[in-house]
Amino acid sequence: MSGKILEIENLTVSFDGFKAVNDLNFSMDEGELRVVIGPNGAGKTTFMDVITGKTKPTEGRVYFKGKNLRPYSEHQIARLGIGRKFQTPRVFLKLTPRENLELSCAQKKNVLGALFGQSSSAERRTVAGLLETIGLAPKADIAADLLSHGEKQRLEIGMLVAQSPDLLLVDEPVAGLTDEETEKVGDLLLALAESHSIMVIEHDMEFVRQIARTVTVLHQGSVLCEGNMDEVQNDPRVIEVYLGKQEEDGHQAA
Ligand code: ADP
Ligand code: MG
Repeated sequence: MSGKILEIENLTVSFDGFKAVNDLNFSMDEGELRVVIGPNGAGKTTFMDVITGKTKPTEGRVYFKGKNLRPYSEHQIARLGIGRKFQTPRVFLKLTPRENLELSCAQKKNVLGALFGQSSSAERRTVAGLLETIGLAPKADIAADLLSHGEKQRLEIGMLVAQSPDLLLVDEPVAGLTDEETEKVGDLLLALAESHSIMVIEHDMEFVRQIARTVTVLHQGSVLCEGNMDEVQNDPRVIEVYLGKQEEDGHQAA
């Protein structure tokens, strides 16, 4: 094994002839925290859709830990160990954070375990640990409905981690959050990055600066450049297509 969690070769995704992803090459090491940025329409979400099997490549290959994902369904790919957090939180609002996390833990059990499963003491410890990690221990037993948007985002990241994926894909986790909530989500991802491989798609440059090690810039469905934050920020092509535009548009969007 190469130590690569993800390798993507010559990936193209066409929608009626329009190439949302265009001959894209990409790789990511086991244990890495990678941030993917790019202007609206660059193909970031489509890229994630292909990794999770939601969309099949028109051309090219996606390898997860050396395994070609082509034959696998979205559901099977999740089972292989790729977990995804979508842009909008998908927590059960009537349930508490603790119950939401218990459900996510139960999802990874086998059918018999799920049928007969009282939650084991190990599982209760896992849930308690996750509540600490996501900073929601004090709100563990109130309805998730009452959480702020940022707290819901953190809860959903916790639910993702509860399923013990090998690779976490996180799409725009701080869209619409306050600065304070944004920083908390950043701290959470940094903490999780100590023991997980994580890919984060993001627009918000403050946030990217907070968490980024290696940044990949997508533009028109291909990798425009890759490097640390300084390299990327000073690349004239990036300034042209992304950061330049951002200054016109203000803080959040590109
Ligand atoms: P990003 O997440 O970087 O904003 P997307 O991956 O959502 O970009 O979209 C890339 C391009 O592909 C956009 O121009 C979008 O309109 C187009 N696109 C995305 N999904 C579809 C689809 N299912 N059918 C047709 N066009 C699509
Ligand atoms: Mg998107």
